[in-house]
Amino acid sequence: DRLIEPEVQGNEDSVDRAIRPKLLADYTGQDHVKKQMAIFIEAARSREEALDHLLIFGPPGLGKTTLANIVANELDVNIKATSGPVLEKAGDLAALLTNLEEGDVLFIDEIHRLSPQVEEILYPAMEDYQLDIMIGEGPAARSIKLELPPFTLIGATTRAGSLTSPLRDRFGIVQRLEFYSVSDLSTIISRSAFYLDLGISPEGADEVARRSRGTPRIANRLLRRVRDYAQVKGDGKVSAQIANLALEMVDVDKRGFDYMDRKYLLAIIEKFMGGPVGLDNLAAAIGEERETIEDVIEPFLIQQGFIQRTPRGRIASNAAYLHFDLAVPES
Ligand code: ADP
Repeated sequence: DRLIEPEVQGNEDSVDRAIRPKLLADYTGQDHVKKQMAIFIEAARSREEALDHLLIFGPPGLGKTTLANIVANELDVNIKATSGPVLEKAGDLAALLTNLEEGDVLFIDEIHRLSPQVEEILYPAMEDYQLDIMIGEGPAARSIKLELPPFTLIGATTRAGSLTSPLRDRFGIVQRLEFYSVSDLSTIISRSAFYLDLGISPEGADEVARRSRGTPRIANRLLRRVRDYAQVKGDGKVSAQIANLALEMVDVDKRGFDYMDRKYLLAIIEKFMGGPVGLDNLAAAIGEERETIEDVIEPFLIQQGFIQRTPRGRIASNAAYLHFDLAVPES
């Protein structure tokens, strides 16, 4: 497993529960999103109505699930969580919907992976709080309609582009999460260190933050590895030097890149003369799945200006050459 993989690994979730923020005020960064959500939540509360359906999109590990839980918490309602691939049959979704109480939140992670049959049940549920479902099969089949209590659907997705437009159009609120700044990550790391009862200097927190790829989940994971190192090799406290040594040991460089990023960038530079190179060729060259490249490796490299995605393929930018101390090509 990659240490800088933005998806959940191992038993991380249980450790994470203690440090996961529960209130909007503790949700660091994403100021634009927070400002808007605070108003929408207060308005829904004062009208005693369910909040509009909310779609949250952004790369993995940026806080979509955390935000969904915070919204439910701030609304003071229950949250039921599921995910697109888990809902196989229309009945799976119907069972969840009919168990909701007024104002509750239904959270569907990876909502772009819903099956068309399940998605179809969702349309009238979202629009009119109605459940239209077929029961039985063949000539005995009949459709029944059920009223649902007003509820809020919160959908999370890493790929807004993969959502069908009828589904997308049914969300009243759409929020996009951005990669976090180093200073926001540093705040998150210091807060996590506090909950882990770990001493960390501001410089130590910055050092971990710079290498966390703009992603809180990675920041918290790196912090735990740095803590191990500090306990075994140091005095238990995290300074910039300890953080640097620990992260060098686990092969996360100054930019937060690991072997996979380097392999990806060097493939474009060396095998494809800097690009443009198509996704399929690149995937074959480095032995990675297309989806992993698009969802996991590329977003951060694009945001940092190391590559460009063009209609003709991926191109390595000057920053990529400079990162490897390579001469930038003339053209
Ligand atoms: P996603 O659902 O987008 O993959 P999560 O909501 O599971 O991401 O977030 C990963 C972890 O990062 C959370 O468990 C939480 O501890 C931390 N985290 C995410 N966003 C924030 C934030 N804005 N402030 C503080 N911690 C955060």
